[in-house]
Amino acid sequence: MSEPEEAFKVIQSRSEGVLQSELWKILDVDSRKCSRIVKKLLDSGLIERIEFRKNGIKTFILKAKRRPVDPGLIMAGDELIPCIGCELECSVRECHRLMDWMYELAISESEE
Ligand code: SF4
Repeated sequence: MSEPEEAFKVIQSRSEGVLQSELWKILDVDSRKCSRIVKKLLDSGLIERIEFRKNGIKTFILKAKRRPVDPGLIMAGDELIPCIGCELECSVRECHRLMDWMYELAISESEE
């Protein structure tokens, strides 16, 4: 795994983000190298950087960006996956709404 990939994995694993001043210690690299890794991730749009002060010292919180959901994963033809907004007690294996939707998905994919 490359260093930027490793860094991204660390950042992505923490929903509250990681301080840049901690990331280089976690990755076991020096702070300059860490800055270059962070720049790569920022340039590729995978993370965002938020200014933060810790004990009066300026640092940054690094957070993974949320990616938009691929509509192809939640649509079967014109039908939205029934789980969105569902308030039923969930039992995925026995859910007829989901089965019907998956059936629609299979049909719509075979028509493409
Ligand atoms: S699997 Fe069925 S019960 Fe569970 S969230 Fe989806 S639609 Fe609702």
